[in-house]
Amino acid sequence: MKRIVLLGATGSIGTQTVDVVLHHKDEFCIVGLSAGRNINKLKELLELLPNVQHVCVADESSMEELKELYPNKCWYCGDDGLKQLAALQDYDIFVDAVVGFRGLVPALTAIKNKKIIALANKESLVAGGPLVKQALKEHGVTLYPIDSEHSAIFQCLQGNTHDSVDKLIVTASGGSFRDLNREQLKDVTVEQALKHPNWNMGGRITIDSATMMNKGFEVIEAHYLFDIPYEKIDVLIHRESAIHSMVQYNDHAIMAQIGTADMRLPIQYALSYPKRLTMYDAEPFDFLKYSTLHFEEASMERYPLLKLAYEVGKKGGNLGAIMNAADEEAVRLFLNKKISFLDIETSVIEAVKQLTFIQDPTLEDIINSDLTAREFVKNMWKGVM
Ligand code: NDP
Ligand code: MG
Repeated sequence: MKRIVLLGATGSIGTQTVDVVLHHKDEFCIVGLSAGRNINKLKELLELLPNVQHVCVADESSMEELKELYPNKCWYCGDDGLKQLAALQDYDIFVDAVVGFRGLVPALTAIKNKKIIALANKESLVAGGPLVKQALKEHGVTLYPIDSEHSAIFQCLQGNTHDSVDKLIVTASGGSFRDLNREQLKDVTVEQALKHPNWNMGGRITIDSATMMNKGFEVIEAHYLFDIPYEKIDVLIHRESAIHSMVQYNDHAIMAQIGTADMRLPIQYALSYPKRLTMYDAEPFDFLKYSTLHFEEASMERYPLLKLAYEVGKKGGNLGAIMNAADEEAVRLFLNKKISFLDIETSVIEAVKQLTFIQDPTLEDIINSDLTAREFVKNMWKGVM
């Protein structure tokens, strides 16, 4: 029985992780979890998961109320609380499914604590890739990807050696606006941007899919997860999201992982590796329903944030932290209808261009770069708000 601490339990990945755990009760149990502000969802989860002993919420006031309702559980709050959950002793797997930069410090804490890491929070690797890699090495810890493209690549790599990899091919659906040109992007609304054609995900990642910032993050994530140089990571638009990503080997064999668009498989595989558990409540992929699969170039002109992510990845340092924080802040402003869709791109590009570059940042530098980039974006749009 593997014991799990789950950050971001009330979110899209979090609730699907709970679903996986409830369908494999003989394999897993959740002993600690975190929610943000969705207290009703949290209460539902606590009914479903009687083994949960440790719970963290975003705000202290909610924590105080919940303490009275559930006096037998241990309560934590805020970012310190997330770190305290990661530092608990009595568990095996740390699932990092909180959204945003706040996932980094808990991930580093869980690594130091020698727990297996199942990572959905790609921001940890985008902002702090070298720190995470160094910590994994130092503490002899393994990290399994939950992001579907990276889970696909991880599956395609099984049984092969690193030196025989020619390139990674990361597929992209193209997001909600894949059929619009740049001129048409000027007037798009939040509601339109939130309608992802293939996946049902949290708000931030859905917007990041529309700008392709998400794919840029995934290129950086792939670089750190699989130790592959950026020159050998391609992005390919594949609108059906049937192929979740591929590995091309130096004999030109290409391994692809194919399946329905369902995050439960990558979540389940990250928890059960190397074992494959039975999938439940779902039909397998049916080729006859997909008579044609489409592939298109991911144009760097059409998707400037994808281009930027390659540049940021190659330069390294604190640029990943700046890019992520600027995007996080700009997406928040867009979701609150303060700035336009294309202003997200401007915010991120300007933050990366203008803020101070640090080649070998410490964790403190990364945290400061994150704060500075957020302030930069807030100041940038102060006049229009
Ligand atoms: P959601 O927005 O659905 O969920 C985010 C989670 O983080 C919720 O539990 C939320 O709590 C919590 N949270 C938000 N703000 C805070 C805060 N201030 N303090 C503490 N907790 C907070 O996101 P997703 O599940 O879509 O994404 C989670 C991570 O997984 C992201 O890093 C994303 O990039 C990655 N990912 C997601 C995929 C998907 O299919 N959704 C696919 C691949 C990667 P609450 O709702 O209670 O406020
Ligand atoms: Mg993905």
